[in-house]
Amino acid sequence: MSVKPHIAVVGAGAFGGWTALYLLRSGARVTLVDAWGPGNSRASSGGETRIMRGAYGPNQPYTKLAARAHELWKRHEDEWKRRFFFPVGVLWMVEGDGAFERGSLPLLKDAGIDFEELEVKELARRWPQISCENVEWGIYEPKSGYLLARASTQTVVDQFVAEGGEYREAAVAAQELDAGDWKELRLADSPSTIRAVTAEDSIVATGRIVADRYVFACGPWLGKMFPRTVGPHFVSTRQEVFFFGTPAGDRRYDEHNLPVWTDHGERFMYGIPGNQGRGFKLADDTRGAKFDPTSGERVVSEEGLAAARRYLGYRFPGMRDAPVMETRVCQYENTVDHNFIIDRHPRNANIWIVGGGSGHGFKHGPAVGEMVAGLVLEDGTAEASFCLKRFCL
Ligand SMILES: Cc1cc2nc3c(=O)[nH]c(=O)nc-3n(C[C@H](O)[C@H](O)[C@H](O)COP(=O)(O)OP(=O)(O)OC[C@H]3O[C@@H](n4cnc5c(N)ncnc54)[C@H](O)[C@@H]3O)c2cc1C
Repeated sequence: MSVKPHIAVVGAGAFGGWTALYLLRSGARVTLVDAWGPGNSRASSGGETRIMRGAYGPNQPYTKLAARAHELWKRHEDEWKRRFFFPVGVLWMVEGDGAFERGSLPLLKDAGIDFEELEVKELARRWPQISCENVEWGIYEPKSGYLLARASTQTVVDQFVAEGGEYREAAVAAQELDAGDWKELRLADSPSTIRAVTAEDSIVATGRIVADRYVFACGPWLGKMFPRTVGPHFVSTRQEVFFFGTPAGDRRYDEHNLPVWTDHGERFMYGIPGNQGRGFKLADDTRGAKFDPTSGERVVSEEGLAAARRYLGYRFPGMRDAPVMETRVCQYENTVDHNFIIDRHPRNANIWIVGGGSGHGFKHGPAVGEMVAGLVLEDGTAEASFCLKRFCL
């Protein structure tokens, strides 16, 4: 690499944006490229809010990573004088054996994430607006909560530019990234829209970026971008999200009186109480049908809406007749084991692949960015559960 290495980052979502920022701060020259812009409606980092939680079950790296991310979110809020993280608490309602939740407890303790174990009686006392039918016990993380998704994703890129990074809205063309002799990044936009910013800039009017290293953080598009390396181990699934209107003047269902909640029964339901005037968010974490992030129509299904209403009335009886305010269709970018991918391409050592957030990546953005910048610049290797080798390539 040259004295000041030039790194091109493709994708300005939660993973790519933070990675670009940390690479820049570590002394690299960074060009960040996104086809539709940070937090766009097709991206997995689009939409209003995401949950910031620590419980993740046993034997996993994410509780510790979430604790680091929590620190970094707060540090950047102070630095940028913007608020993205709302620590309204996260409540886990446990049905059945609760092996996932029980297994989470030692890791929460080790990571220094505050939590309480709650008997169902206590849970019902604190939040009488929840019907506790079938709930056996709970975990409460008082300092966890929710994050603003699109707003923070856009701010990260604004800050990256303000600190001297180069951001371009351009699409990377389909190309043989999986081939061993791949050399430079071809852009799909028209050559006339591409201008060299300075004489030494490596973005030239032929629509190519030549850098020392490339980080592909293309979220749900990674499978198509790397059809051999990532494709067989990756699926993008359709996920429906509903926002219900809380009753006028009744604050029991907003963030002042209800934490973020998850309900781990037969299905894994979750939601974020009313906030930012945008209604009470409810979703089912069960993986939906395969979904194309570019051409997929984002209209929720009648069955999905009926199921969401049934669940709402069952668990939050006072919201039974609440009207739908908004709906969203987003996609999870799932790996087969739901672990992230953070690794070098097996045949192109100058390509890094970062993604596979699998429906839980957003909160980790700053911690992933910090980690990836270190790995890329220092030629490191991520921990085994993030490496491509686990797919036996
Ligand atoms: C409904 C839903 C709920 C979720 N809930 C949570 C939650 O509560 N907590 C949590 O932590 N996580 C949650 N997640 C997961 C989290 O949002 C994702 O894991 C995370 O946002 C993924 O970020 P990313 O940067 O990998 O991908 P993206 O945000 O999709 O970014 C990829 C970027 O690449 C760009 N791109 C793609 N192709 C090209 C190309 N050819 N050229 C140039 N640019 C390109 C896209 O425009 C996009 O901006 C949820 C996800 C969904 C969909």
